[in-house]
Amino acid sequence: MRIINLNPDTNIGASSWFVDIEGHGLLMDAGTHPKLEGRESLPRYDLIRDENVIAIAISHCHHDHVGSLPMALRYFPQARVLMSELSYFLVERVLHNSVNVMKRQRDELGIREYPLFSHDEVDEIAPVFQGFRYNREIDYAWDAKPRANFVLPTLEFYDAGHALGSAGLMVRGQKETLFYTGDVCFHDQTILRKARFENVKADVLIMETTRGNRALPPGFSRESETERLRLSIQRVLARGGSVLLPTFALGRTQEVLALMALWMSEGKLNPQPIYIGGLGRVFTEIYDLEAHRTHRQYPNLQLREALNLIVLDQGQATKMKLGGGRLFVITAGMMSEKTAAHDLGMRMIGDENQAIFFVGYTDPDTPGGRLKAAPQGADFVFSPSAGSVSRRCEVDEFDLTAHANRNDLLDFVGIVDPRTVVLGHGEESSRKWFEDEIRSRYPRIKIIQPVVGGTLNV
Ligand SMILES: [Zn+2]
Ligand SMILES: [Zn+2]
Repeated sequence: MRIINLNPDTNIGASSWFVDIEGHGLLMDAGTHPKLEGRESLPRYDLIRDENVIAIAISHCHHDHVGSLPMALRYFPQARVLMSELSYFLVERVLHNSVNVMKRQRDELGIREYPLFSHDEVDEIAPVFQGFRYNREIDYAWDAKPRANFVLPTLEFYDAGHALGSAGLMVRGQKETLFYTGDVCFHDQTILRKARFENVKADVLIMETTRGNRALPPGFSRESETERLRLSIQRVLARGGSVLLPTFALGRTQEVLALMALWMSEGKLNPQPIYIGGLGRVFTEIYDLEAHRTHRQYPNLQLREALNLIVLDQGQATKMKLGGGRLFVITAGMMSEKTAAHDLGMRMIGDENQAIFFVGYTDPDTPGGRLKAAPQGADFVFSPSAGSVSRRCEVDEFDLTAHANRNDLLDFVGIVDPRTVVLGHGEESSRKWFEDEIRSRYPRIKIIQPVVGGTLNV
């Protein structure tokens, strides 16, 4: 089996893996790098331009896994695009949103090569997308010539419990198997139940390592953490301050909204409107509409009915009054420039009455990361457009992760029992932790830290 890591960076970056299993090429994920701009943000498709990519399989609809799908299809126009059925309902929305974001960045940040693809291109490629239920074996090498005694490789999606539609990918050849975790969560979230990766066995495992550099504090539980969040929100609202939870539109937004819906229905949080972003609304609607197809908790909870959700209009974040205790659950999770979370944050940071609570990963090199790192009362540069601001608002962080905790992933390695594990989707310190732990716990397993564009014969 031959694997090429196409991520242009050594950290989480843009996920994309080429795998050749018994002569059949498959591209797994086609992401974009959230911190790089223009063509720099793309996976290194140029390295595999001469490969025969029969199919492109998408693990889930976060940008770092699907954001460059139209570019990948320019290299491999004959490829089918395979994903879980739930991702199938999301993917076009995500890609059209990417076009809008890129256009805005071209106009406002002067990135001339944007947009890298157009709305028309998204519409043109959409007919080759195919959605599949979890745990159905798919013959992905459909155009390969059947030969005597030859079993075609197959692909199967496993529920990864990370965000709606998220999947781990099992590729089975005649002689060997590969499992790619995508982004995975081994504990129940508020809506989504944990991954169903039971009984996964494979010769080669490609694994995410997001939380390798993060130990859970002693006594940590998700329940106590959500309770801490609820009490913090209540405290800020009671003093007339507003609360901003910067979140990603797909997944985290719906998980936080579900918490609030439960709190309000149980009388633990006073009912009040919640302001969300336009894209957050779209994905919330899809979470509601596809509730019956989803392996989830509270299957009858419809967020749009349980909550009074108000979509923030373009530009409203810079104008609306913040007194009187408002609740905002809006993008972007890292408060990147030109987002509602950034614009609201800019107005809240200097006001000690307001609170900004983070509920997900924040890269240190983003406005959100810089806000978190700044000491209380200190001046710091929030972003190039906001300039230097003084941190006076309340800032806190709540660990409501949608990624597997590192010890759960380590246990999973033992279940899969591969001959080789390839460590991806993590910072260097995270991958190093896994390398050391796997080496001491499972000494027979070969561990690979892939380099950018490196070919792995595994
Ligand atoms: Zn993800
Ligand atoms: Zn990811």
